[in-house]
Amino acid sequence: MRVSSRTSGVEYAIRDIISYARMYESAGNHIIYLNIGDPVRYGFNTPEHIKDALINAVKANQNYYTESEGLPELRNAIAEKESQKGLAIIDQDVLVTNGVSEGLDMVMASIIDSNSEVLMPGPYYPPYASYAKFYGGNPVEFRLHEDGRPDLEDLLSKITPKSRAICIINPNNPTGEVFDRKALQELVDIAEEHDLYLICDEIYDGIVFNGKFSGIGRVSKDAAVILLNGFSKVYLMTGWRCGYVCTNSNCRKLDELRTNIPKLARVRISTNLPVQMAAVQALRGPQDHIKDMVLKLQKRRDYVVKRLNGMNGLSCTMPNGAFYVFPKISLDSHWKDDKEFTIDLLNKTGILTVHGSGFGRISGSEHFRIVYLPSEDILEEAMNRLEDFVHMRSSCK
Ligand code: PLP
Repeated sequence: MRVSSRTSGVEYAIRDIISYARMYESAGNHIIYLNIGDPVRYGFNTPEHIKDALINAVKANQNYYTESEGLPELRNAIAEKESQKGLAIIDQDVLVTNGVSEGLDMVMASIIDSNSEVLMPGPYYPPYASYAKFYGGNPVEFRLHEDGRPDLEDLLSKITPKSRAICIINPNNPTGEVFDRKALQELVDIAEEHDLYLICDEIYDGIVFNGKFSGIGRVSKDAAVILLNGFSKVYLMTGWRCGYVCTNSNCRKLDELRTNIPKLARVRISTNLPVQMAAVQALRGPQDHIKDMVLKLQKRRDYVVKRLNGMNGLSCTMPNGAFYVFPKISLDSHWKDDKEFTIDLLNKTGILTVHGSGFGRISGSEHFRIVYLPSEDILEEAMNRLEDFVHMRSSCK
């Protein structure tokens, strides 16, 4: 029977690679998973006060459909958090979603027409391209310089009358790069000059290693900023699916979008009420776990980057946020491309990573992504195996 052609461009390399892992596992082999950015799977547990809030809500019979736009107390706590980060935001301009993923889906659905172009820094988190394509648009990658700053000349050369939005994923997945204030200001200026939406994903805002995070709110003023954020990473609630979309309350150009996105929220009724009650406690309760997590991650990052840079044919920059590294591979003539490299790595060592081209064909190619969430002994084992693997290749030359 027929299926629509709409889904043909939908890809998610991070999970698509799992079919290779299943084959490997079904032959009785053990895998070290370094592919999915889920801290809760690696022993970073949801804080007790957040778990208690969920359990208490369920027991108190808070198990009904709630407002489509989100629980008022949660919208208020979110508006407070984001306004502390500098964004002009009132409760009514916050929409609670089933994770950032659903928020991104709603935003793309609301702004893309056939052949609209969405500019994204390469490499980017894959759903940005998948949703753009799903709604009939085209993702357009713009380059970043080696130091992680946006290549403005390249970006400007790619703006056309079909351009609708610039996406900023900050800190970035897969590189862990953090844009500084100057880079953000430059992107805001370009977006304003060309009447483009700025879709800003700050899901890793609490996971930065060099001081306090400075996000889009610090420079947004009255620009057309659509901020996406959520509870999966910083509050360790990945499986609970809770995120949000905020639109800059100072920006009148967003008024039409503000009436459109909630229509999509209403057709899906609402998000999970007990989880929203727990999310209120996440924002209002103790924040100590974040500092502990960042300290642990910083040690793991330093270890992994040092080891990678000591391996033949690999080089890796030091990321400033999130929990990913994105090393460059010198493929020589040994592997056809980065996907072949990651599959060969899996089959020879049991280490599952994600091929870089899954994060954008132009700038992702010849790279692979490693999640450094596992404990140090697992990372050490993984780095030892990876080192043997790449050194074996160089000795075969
Ligand atoms: N945005 C970015 C940049 C991510 O890296 C991820 C998950 O890895 C998500 C969104 C997904 O967020 P959520 O769990 O809130 O859907």
